[in-house]
Amino acid sequence: MLIIQHHVKTVPHLLLPTNQFDLTMKLTGHDLKQINDTTLEHLSPEQLLSFSKRMLADLKEAMDRLNQNSNNSSKPPSSTPPWVTTPADQENTGDEDGEDHDNNKPRREVNDTPPPKDEQPGSTPETPDSSGTQPSSQEGTDASSTQKTSPVKRTAGKQQGAEGFGRTQQLPVTAIVHHSSTHCTVCNAYLGGHETQVAWTAFYSLDIAESIPEQPGIHLNHTKHIFFEIECACGHHNRSEPHAVMPEASWPKTNLSEWRLVGPRFAAMIVMLSKRYRNSRRLIREFLYDFLGIELSVGTIDQTIREAGRSVEPLEEGLIHEIEEASLAYVDETSWKEAGNLRWLWVFRTLTVVLFVAGKRDRTIFCKLLLDGRFKGIVMSDGWVVYREYANRLRCWAHLIRKARGLSESCNFVATKVGLEILALFTTFQDAIYIARNQPEQPFGTLAKQYENEMEQLKALCEAHKDSNHDKLRAFARELLRDWDVVVRQIYDPSLPLTNNDAERILRHWVIDRRLSYGTRTVEGTRSFTLLASVIETCRIRGAPAWDYLTTVIAAARKGLELPALPGMQAANLNLPGITS
Ligand SMILES: [Zn+2]
Repeated sequence: MLIIQHHVKTVPHLLLPTNQFDLTMKLTGHDLKQINDTTLEHLSPEQLLSFSKRMLADLKEAMDRLNQNSNNSSKPPSSTPPWVTTPADQENTGDEDGEDHDNNKPRREVNDTPPPKDEQPGSTPETPDSSGTQPSSQEGTDASSTQKTSPVKRTAGKQQGAEGFGRTQQLPVTAIVHHSSTHCTVCNAYLGGHETQVAWTAFYSLDIAESIPEQPGIHLNHTKHIFFEIECACGHHNRSEPHAVMPEASWPKTNLSEWRLVGPRFAAMIVMLSKRYRNSRRLIREFLYDFLGIELSVGTIDQTIREAGRSVEPLEEGLIHEIEEASLAYVDETSWKEAGNLRWLWVFRTLTVVLFVAGKRDRTIFCKLLLDGRFKGIVMSDGWVVYREYANRLRCWAHLIRKARGLSESCNFVATKVGLEILALFTTFQDAIYIARNQPEQPFGTLAKQYENEMEQLKALCEAHKDSNHDKLRAFARELLRDWDVVVRQIYDPSLPLTNNDAERILRHWVIDRRLSYGTRTVEGTRSFTLLASVIETCRIRGAPAWDYLTTVIAAARKGLELPALPGMQAANLNLPGITS
């Protein structure tokens, strides 16, 4: 009895929301607290039998729930406790290692923590801002977002008594670049070389040299950019200036400018350390110091990542357009936290594009992207009700097979029997589909005709149990019947994909990122995150180096130039839709 009490008590707390538990179990926690050996000793044989039956039903239910995991139910892999290794973990060990790093310390840090304004502008006239912020920048407002989210009101700027990170590091200058006007902008007269002009400002830029095969490794360039001015004979005052992109309402705290300590290639590396390798700003700072001997503040790192997000923003339109043109889109979604508010993070994946969008926890984004009539392709998804609004879709069989397996492992005799039968039928179909794919293409519906009887059997099983007393069996039978045409679509056309793994695997990387970072803190932070994630993953599925591409995009964006096009699909990747993660 004590053991039973123990099981029943631990199940809801570890694995299930308590309310769901109390609703379907016959004995509540409140009941169990009152029942002991004495209670049972005072029951008549009839009462004892009746109570035993209820207890047995509860015990079976509890056992089923204890055994439930992402392998035999619709529970997403992210619901698996972190200490349980799932098959997906084993597949992706190279990637998921990050999950364990730094696990001795509670990770309070948030990826998009507004940067502490710990960078003080340089003081010499030649280096108005050696920290990478602009002389007249509004970066000081960064700290204002802290006021929104943190319970304690903080003033902008360095806090009294806080550790200061004023840029004191002196690195040898490896190159000097002179920026001067050669001709007068008014009369077009030749103005002479920079030697005849007056230097009015300068900034330092730290960047990573492009790697050459003969010399692997990371090599730093520390470049001094000097800007000159001169008065023309016509009276016009000519001055060369680092380019600054006009402020944008949607990026109130993110300026885009050439005037940066962190050069484009170095910035792209910081983005990769953050997004691809899931390091917090603080860990990146530590890494740069420990391995490259570079001191950068958390604020500069944060600014660099958000600026990169704004840099790649113009690419989004092209990504959406490619999705609209695609014949098949894999779609999945998960929860995301922005400043403690629950949001929805969506991933849309086609053969050549990955797009992340974060927004409200409803159908808005799905409707905007795929239900507005421009997308004509097939949607592959799980069984979430929102997707049913789109008729031309596929169901992920991995989810259905997991549910069938869950039933087959139930303690209920009927559910086990039916679960095993459904599982066997799906396995038969699946095997037949794999075989059909390796054979010359046959007319539409050939396989369905061949497996007509088995499909009828499946349908009959669902019909027979659609009013079953067993909750899960009834729900599953109804689900299959309701979505019948979509469920069996791959049997009619075996070339269609069977699972949504291509989207789920990509999303998984960012689910781990969310667990490490606790989400984002600001709207700009979320925006920057989804944009960069989209570009990085798109490069990855195309087999193109994301670091190189981000470098060229950041460099162009800072100069206000048109962005280079996304790299094309590498031939080797065309037949490998599963290279992600
Ligand atoms: Zn002139």
